[in-house]
Amino acid sequence: MADYDKPIPEPDPVSQPFWDAAKDGRLALPRCSDCNRVHWYPRTICPFCHSTAIEWFDASGKGTIHTFAVQTRKWGPWDPPYVTAYIDLAEGDRMQTVLRGVDPDDPESIRIGAPVEVEFEPASDDVHIPFWRVVG
Ligand SMILES: [Zn+2]
Repeated sequence: MADYDKPIPEPDPVSQPFWDAAKDGRLALPRCSDCNRVHWYPRTICPFCHSTAIEWFDASGKGTIHTFAVQTRKWGPWDPPYVTAYIDLAEGDRMQTVLRGVDPDDPESIRIGAPVEVEFEPASDDVHIPFWRVVG
């Protein structure tokens, strides 16, 4: 963990259930109890129906690539080239990630719709950060 040199998110009361699960290697997502839709990122109000009845559940940790981009300039904490992507979560909504299991020098090999699975990297004792990896 000492070698994790990227910015580390700061959990807050709204996102704490996500970080607690991540530390256990589980992907927890918020879902509205009124309209049953999953939303990402964590909020106190459902973005679809404005209900405040939000519950957390353990998601499958599976998804597919919605879209991606090869980053060739250094504007964030990662050294280029690397691939950023939006992941269509199996349970609904999307999560942004730095994609793993792909070759940024061979973008033709990366496919929209390809299956991905979440993995967690310990950044500190309390914060394990989700990344998505192409599988299969
Ligand atoms: Zn709702």
